[in-house]
Amino acid sequence: MNTPMRTLAAQAQSLFDLTLTPEQAAAFDTYAALLVEWNSRMNLTAITDAEGIQVRHFLDSLSVATALPRAGNLRLIDVGTGAGFPGLPLKIVFPDIQLTLLEATGKKLNFLREVCEALNLRGVEFLHARAEEAGQMRDRRAAYDVAVARAVARLPALLEYLLPLVKVGGYALAMKGRTAQAEAEDSSHALKELGGQLVAIDEIQLPALDEPHYLVRVEKIAHTPNPYPRKPGMPSNAPL
Ligand code: SAM
Repeated sequence: MNTPMRTLAAQAQSLFDLTLTPEQAAAFDTYAALLVEWNSRMNLTAITDAEGIQVRHFLDSLSVATALPRAGNLRLIDVGTGAGFPGLPLKIVFPDIQLTLLEATGKKLNFLREVCEALNLRGVEFLHARAEEAGQMRDRRAAYDVAVARAVARLPALLEYLLPLVKVGGYALAMKGRTAQAEAEDSSHALKELGGQLVAIDEIQLPALDEPHYLVRVEKIAHTPNPYPRKPGMPSNAPL
């Protein structure tokens, strides 16, 4: 017989020392229900079973909490957020975060707007753009304490998406799988060009997953030169 799944609140507490209020736990239930409902009409995720959503979407997103600076009113941008991961779970648990959800596909932003409305989340901006465009926008460039992304691009290209958006002294956080170390090794030129410094590659422990997860932490230590990010497509077609 299968052992019953522990609740999200219990797992968030034991894995990441995060205490969810009953309201926050209920918000995750609503989010999961909306994800499944919308996914029957548009392609948001391949993971639709309750345990998969809890572990691979919600807990995986919350693992980023371990690397967030402890300041209140943190300005955070989630680049290529898709169905909201990791940005929205972090916003549910840390309501003071000023969150920007950046996504190139407009339809996905409709879903995110509905979730934020249903959960009554305030302080969320929806940015329909490519990361390469956002990094050149006057009000976005070097405007964030943290830029985070999961499953968007290999690290050399991803750093060109993330670092221009981050203030000097802020962080780019990349959620990666088994190729984390190799991607980091391929990123030394990108780091130098873009003003980043690798801080750590943390292994993330999640229950019942057979593949390793890592969080690559990069600090922005110098201004990113103006030509970066280059035109849409360039960072991934001709990575630094
Ligand atoms: N981060 C989400 C997750 O982990 O569930 C979504 C991952 S999905 C595989 C990649 C998402 O990044 C897609 O929604 C895609 O539209 C978006 N994306 C890819 N390249 C992008 C870019 N250059 N600028 C903005 N969004 C991008």
